[in-house]
Amino acid sequence: MSHQRNISLRPHDLWGTLDAEMSQNGNPAAPESQTQGLKGQTITAVQGNKLAAGKQGMAEQVHPKPSGAPGQLPDYIVQRNQLFDELKKNYDEEMAAREKTPIKIKFSPEPGTTKEIDGNAWDTTPGKLLKDVPKDRAAKIVVAKVDGSVWDLDRPLERDCAVAYYTFDDKEGRYVFWHSSAHVLGECAEHQYGDCKLSHGPPTEMGFFYDMAIDRPVTEADWPSIESRAKKFAKDKQQFVRLEVSKDDLLKMFGYSKYKTHYIEKLVKGEKSTVYRNGDLVDLCQGPHIQNTRKIEAFKIMKNSSAYFLGDQANDSLQRIHAVAFPSKQGLKDWEHRLEEAKKRNHQLIGKQQKLFFFSQLSPGSPFLLPHGVRIFNALQAMLRDEYWDRGYQEVQSPNMYNVDLWKVSGHWQHYQDDMFRVKVDDDVAEPMPLSDQKPDGRPVANPANEDKDKGVFALKPMNCPGHCLLFRDEERSYRELPWRVADFGVLHRNEASGALSGLTRVRKFQQDDTHIFCTNAQIMGEIAGLFDFMDSVYKLFGFPFKLKLSTRPEGFMGKIEEWDAAEAQLKQALQDFRGDDWELNPGDGAFYGPKIDITISDALGREFQCATIQLDFQGPQNFKLEYRTAEGGAAADADAAAAKEKDPNALTTGMARPVMIHRAIVGSFERFIAILCEHFGGKWPFWLSPRQIMIIPVMKVSPSPKPLSYSPTI
Ligand SMILES: [Zn+2]
Ligand SMILES: [Zn+2]
Repeated sequence: MSHQRNISLRPHDLWGTLDAEMSQNGNPAAPESQTQGLKGQTITAVQGNKLAAGKQGMAEQVHPKPSGAPGQLPDYIVQRNQLFDELKKNYDEEMAAREKTPIKIKFSPEPGTTKEIDGNAWDTTPGKLLKDVPKDRAAKIVVAKVDGSVWDLDRPLERDCAVAYYTFDDKEGRYVFWHSSAHVLGECAEHQYGDCKLSHGPPTEMGFFYDMAIDRPVTEADWPSIESRAKKFAKDKQQFVRLEVSKDDLLKMFGYSKYKTHYIEKLVKGEKSTVYRNGDLVDLCQGPHIQNTRKIEAFKIMKNSSAYFLGDQANDSLQRIHAVAFPSKQGLKDWEHRLEEAKKRNHQLIGKQQKLFFFSQLSPGSPFLLPHGVRIFNALQAMLRDEYWDRGYQEVQSPNMYNVDLWKVSGHWQHYQDDMFRVKVDDDVAEPMPLSDQKPDGRPVANPANEDKDKGVFALKPMNCPGHCLLFRDEERSYRELPWRVADFGVLHRNEASGALSGLTRVRKFQQDDTHIFCTNAQIMGEIAGLFDFMDSVYKLFGFPFKLKLSTRPEGFMGKIEEWDAAEAQLKQALQDFRGDDWELNPGDGAFYGPKIDITISDALGREFQCATIQLDFQGPQNFKLEYRTAEGGAAADADAAAAKEKDPNALTTGMARPVMIHRAIVGSFERFIAILCEHFGGKWPFWLSPRQIMIIPVMKVSPSPKPLSYSPTI
């Protein structure tokens, strides 16, 4: 169901065959019906294998009285835990017998410091190395990072590796913390409800939840006793103990729960997987976790609801408890304060109060900007136009609607046609499209076999890139014209699912500060440096700090490896020059058509948003066969061109080279940016943006002299 996919408003997400990751930062927790993976892992849709519905199956299980005492847990839980203990004994013996060969460790106790130290395989753990980390930092560390992946502090290292750490302030650390807290919530639930079959409990942007089958709905009256259990389990300093278990033993261990059994069948691909134990809870999980529950200083239930198993209405309805946890009591206080503030600052509320925009059901997801909203829009646009003038950008306008032929070249037709608004235009008569072989009511269209069914088909543009390629190709280009920076504020449309629409943050119609820079390979670094400077000056205006992350060559990349290496080296140099070591490397996560830099801003409430994007693109210029005349034009270029032509008859013309295309936006969608600004400033706009600049208030009484009052309207 492509319409169920969330399309983000990142400027270029739909370009080419795009990244699968379509989530948007700063979003609240997933909708209740959404299928989420075991402990944050994504589950591929399970179809045609719906579990038998009905809670009757559950009722056959033992019904002990709800109690906190471990001795009174149901037999199946006692047996599960016994099996864990037995397997753990064997596992420990096996681990002890492993050869403790010397290994070299690249150790980073703090960001920016690395030294090489010695250790032993199957013995040294990142937790043991904490003694060499400054005390203040060591106290904040929640999980290790080994060769770029999160790793339990108590899990032995296996070979030469790089060891660093995450704290709760890092996104990765926070996820591990909340994920671990979800285990504590699961443990509380098993104790609270006795006969409680846990399903899954992942971390979210807003904390974590656990789904469970119990014989009654959770009520708010249950919350205090669950919270006090969590408090006790945290005090108990329960270790998270990791154990590798064969699939057969997993099925034995969790045979009592059809939910866990489902996850074992679907998710355990190899012979083994891992379980973790904390206190009385043994849970199927890939980890990692915090070292022990003592780290959880504050634990609070936020709400409860119900949710279908795997998000499918045909499955059991489960109880879901949402909670949040922090390593300090102050952390929870700050969080609650931020939630309160966020409620007050909601842009939809302020938008109404200040008469900035509204929506009509007659065009869902397409905002009407009211006069005061347009003033903010125009002030932002004018600020950007000034910058464009200073920075050598050229503004253009391009069509809103293009023939399907363009979308076929760009790849949108093959991959994203459902996310575009399409229209058939025949002899000046536009009619709505059933573009598939079936009408919406299931009946076949008149002539499904007609090979020309795309003839006269147009689509509203979801982005400007393909149009800008046409602009570049319109005349013969010379190296003298590069870099060519083409800016376009054009209106874009994306067919977002109606359920995903939300105020100005998710819309169907929007405008961006979109720009494409066409340049030579050698100009990449200079352009990127210019973009950093541009971004810096715009974000400073609003007081947004921002983080930078470079994603590099993935598997299955297009183009030559030398081109990638050279481009990545330039990006790294530009990042280094701009920020020193203060940026993150995300190896292998670039788009297949080029490396990219993700920029995340944080607002006054500390919420993170991605607005800006910088993407290098080797594919677009190739799809559209873009070329420019090189400076040499002669022998060297000819040799290159001849070699390329041999491989591909459509390759470059003699004396020509292919430009690189840089997709970039700074504010991204104006609509979304206005929403972010509105909440960031809480509706108290900086003067230059403020839609209401001055108000005249007559203070004189009408009598004896009416003069001042009659004068005021004339000002
Ligand atoms: Zn876990
Ligand atoms: Zn683009």
